[in-house]
Amino acid sequence: MAAVNAHLAAMYESYLFSEVDRRVQAYRAENPQKRLLRLGIGDVSRPLAPAVVDALVGAAEEMGQAQSFRGYGPTRGYPFLLQAIIEREYEPVGVKLSQEDVFVSDGAKTDMAALQELFAPDAVAAVCDPVYPVYTDANRMAGRKIVLLPCSQEDGFCPPLPRERVDFLYLCSPNNPTGAALTYAQAARFVDYALENGVALLFDAAYSAYISESGRPKSIFEIQGAKEVAVETGSFSKSAGFTGLRCAWTVVPRENRFGLNALWARRAAAKMNGVSYPVQRAAQAALETPGWEQSRENVRYYMENAKILLGAAEKAGFCTWGGKDAPYLWVKCPDGMSGWEWFDVLLQNKGMICTPGEGFGSCGKGFVRFSAFASREETQEAAARLSEG
Ligand SMILES: *Cc1c(COP(=O)(O)O)cnc(C)c1O
Repeated sequence: MAAVNAHLAAMYESYLFSEVDRRVQAYRAENPQKRLLRLGIGDVSRPLAPAVVDALVGAAEEMGQAQSFRGYGPTRGYPFLLQAIIEREYEPVGVKLSQEDVFVSDGAKTDMAALQELFAPDAVAAVCDPVYPVYTDANRMAGRKIVLLPCSQEDGFCPPLPRERVDFLYLCSPNNPTGAALTYAQAARFVDYALENGVALLFDAAYSAYISESGRPKSIFEIQGAKEVAVETGSFSKSAGFTGLRCAWTVVPRENRFGLNALWARRAAAKMNGVSYPVQRAAQAALETPGWEQSRENVRYYMENAKILLGAAEKAGFCTWGGKDAPYLWVKCPDGMSGWEWFDVLLQNKGMICTPGEGFGSCGKGFVRFSAFASREETQEAAARLSEG
């Protein structure tokens, strides 16, 4: 018998979305005429910006001509895209980077899952609870010890510092699922802690385009000293609708004191052959005029949805978080219900689909997540049904 990865085999099935599906199918079978409002989705719904599509088509045509055909590109990404990322995402917030600090990939999820490979097998990972599941899953698969950082409503879902020794710590800001974005002071507290204790910070900035409140860093590198200890991943998925196209980046500054820049470069060279040329051209277009403005139009659309939902939830008297710096609302279940209980009530009584907080960790129990990625019309209908209480 081939010996399989016992850590992987022991992982419970991620049953959240399959269980949501099962309950929704059962509801549909019983209520075929009722309209369902899908506020559970974590995927964008608006099409790509026209300038992004033009770039994609143009690059595809280049690939069909002998003189402009391209085979393998640079593993870490084409210089035109590295430069566009630096100039559009980092220079405006005062962060200076060089192309050697930036690595393009096919997704933030891929990178967030892979970063743990840079650490020793017995290194300890710290992960917030509740949180996007990939950080936990990747470390579980590797058989690592994981320290959970329980986030509570009293702290506005800002994670506490670990009480025990950890080697690396994941932060996701703005957060999926709670919608909370770290303030400068909160982010600085983590950077100072990392500098003092020799801990690496792995920062997921997939929703940075959604930050609207002042006083919140879009990049962890806005915090003094962060280049020494932090690594940051950004994505075109939620900012420019690339969930089906696939493109992201990770910044690993050469100043990293654990030598992660060389390790990440070495790992990339060993394991990948880069991202497709047309997709990188499309990503470049999403960062340049007019693709940038066109993509931001979609971000504003989702945030208007979030505002509509937030208004309705507040009107109905629910306790809510998020919805200002992220396309998610995190809502406390009324009457002491669990996330799954309220999920059932919302489905049966209002034909609304949300995501039970338990799916993101045990501290998510008693909450649900509403997504602002649905259409405006669907969102307005959901708001109307929600504000009835
Ligand atoms: C959606 C999402 C991502 C995006 O990942 P991609 O692989 O780039 O699509 C990353 N992190 C979080 C927290 C997300 O919700």
